[in-house]
Amino acid sequence: MTDSYSVCLKKAVHVFSAGHFITLTDDTCEAVHGHNWTVSCLISGTPDTHGMVIDFIFLRDTLTQIISKLDHCMLLPTDNSFLQVTMQTEQGQEEVLVKFGERRWVFPADECRLLPLANTTAELLAKWIGNELIETLKRNDYSQTRNIRIEVDECLGQSAFWENKAIME
Ligand SMILES: [Zn+2]
Repeated sequence: MTDSYSVCLKKAVHVFSAGHFITLTDDTCEAVHGHNWTVSCLISGTPDTHGMVIDFIFLRDTLTQIISKLDHCMLLPTDNSFLQVTMQTEQGQEEVLVKFGERRWVFPADECRLLPLANTTAELLAKWIGNELIETLKRNDYSQTRNIRIEVDECLGQSAFWENKAIME
């Protein structure tokens, strides 16, 4: 019999408020709206010599930092082949111009977060957050491979998961 261990972080503080819209089909696209996304994570692995899969405080603070990059931003995907996202300067102001067919939106650049995603769905935001978490673990010399699962809830019980192994080298 093999023991397995996980830690779960599902804290009220891990919320970010942001605007977005997603393409639903090749020729339909949502209107701009926002969510209070809540983020939780489950990390599985072998406890270290101090009996921990990962330090809760380190994980809490890391997740807080990652989420703060998305908070109070307009989230825009740069890898959506149906959306054209370009930077422009208008009257000295940096702006982001987004086009979808005949529709267009203009946002102040410093209020946007451009993400290398195909869409800003809960699924892909979970993946982005998970990859940011893995990069932070690597930078902090976490050497053990762990399974990481991120949940992003966009509307009280309507959530998506991303899961992958963080293979440390
Ligand atoms: Zn939405």
